Amino acid sequence: MSTRSVAVVGAGISGVSAALALRSHGVEVTVLDRAHRVGGRMATRTLRGTGLPYDGRVVDVGAAYLTASAPAFQAVVDSWAARGLLRAWTDTFHVAGPDGRTGVVAGPLRYAAPAGLRSLVEDLAADLPLVVHPREVETVERVADGVEVDGERFDAVVLAMPAPQATDLLAADDPAAAVLADQRWEPTLTLVAAYDERCWPAFDAMFVNDSVVVDFVADDGRRRGDDAPVLVAHSGAVLAAGHLDDPASAAPALLEALEHAVGATAKPAWFDLRRWSLARPRTPLATAYSFDGVVGLCGDAWGAPPRVETAWTSGHDLGHVMATRLA
Ligand SMILES: Cc1cc2nc3c(=O)[nH]c(=O)nc-3n(C[C@H](O)[C@H](O)[C@H](O)COP(=O)(O)OP(=O)(O)OC[C@H]3O[C@@H](n4cnc5c(N)ncnc54)[C@H](O)[C@@H]3O)c2cc1C
Repeated sequence: MSTRSVAVVGAGISGVSAALALRSHGVEVTVLDRAHRVGGRMATRTLRGTGLPYDGRVVDVGAAYLTASAPAFQAVVDSWAARGLLRAWTDTFHVAGPDGRTGVVAGPLRYAAPAGLRSLVEDLAADLPLVVHPREVETVERVADGVEVDGERFDAVVLAMPAPQATDLLAADDPAAAVLADQRWEPTLTLVAAYDERCWPAFDAMFVNDSVVVDFVADDGRRRGDDAPVLVAHSGAVLAAGHLDDPASAAPALLEALEHAVGATAKPAWFDLRRWSLARPRTPLATAYSFDGVVGLCGDAWGAPPRVETAWTSGHDLGHVMATRLA
């Protein structure tokens, strides 16, 4: 039997884990992503032009942390931790209302990455020989003996991305488009605020309840372990939906809500906003992936909750099943 070839479109954690699983069976894998760096929503930006001593420091602007529950993903987490790429952060988050803190809540152990969560996907992708980016894929068309990705033939394809992005690549009458049709996604805005010095009572992260403006705040200095006075706030979906064309116009509301929630006594010296049009799926799917013999679908919508571990598991399970069926 000749070597099977699969294109993986999307180099977020689900696409990279699918590619690694496929390659472990000897499948030839080409990973394509439109971004300049792999990682997708495990996104990290470097502070530039802040005028503060923290210029050059990275901040997580997508996923805030990760958790692990299943043994297979815990093994990946343990490997990152053993090599210093990941650190146990906290199992206790604060809770706030619109006017300030109301208590603390214990939960699972949250992990953070000193070099940002993107570095974890980069670590996994380092084992893949053929990762091509930036490369925006435009069409995925079935042919008699497989599939063409922008005209290049493969035996099968993995679409590892939010449903609206995957649907854009498929013909309207493709069966996979029908599988994706009911998925709805929510937007979020991420506010990064850097201060001259710490000016709030200590906390690691905070769920903000009863606010349509801010959902969640993380202390990025405590998360990363360098104590830099940098906060990251994620907006609610309603606020984001109203400001997708002009995220900067949401800054006054977000800054005020952030100040009240954490109890900051000074204004940030620098801030910036990032838009996520497709931040999280609104309705998680009951199965871990979809594969019809040619088109595989995976990502954080495939399972629940929509998180890093779910995305990794979805890609990992799909990759193993695809490799077995293609053989
Ligand atoms: C603001 C925010 C906060 C979050 N907080 C947490 C958290 O605290 N904990 C947690 O566990 N999870 C969190 N998440 C969710 C977590 O980030 C995701 O579950 C996970 O990263 C999804 O990975 P994925 O591979 O499924 O998709 P993605 O990371 O979205 O990857 C999809 C990839 O496909 C690429 N792509 C899309 N279209 C094309 C195309 N046409 N051609 C080529 N490439 C294409 C994109 O560039 C992207 O790299 C958060 C997400 C956001 C946005």
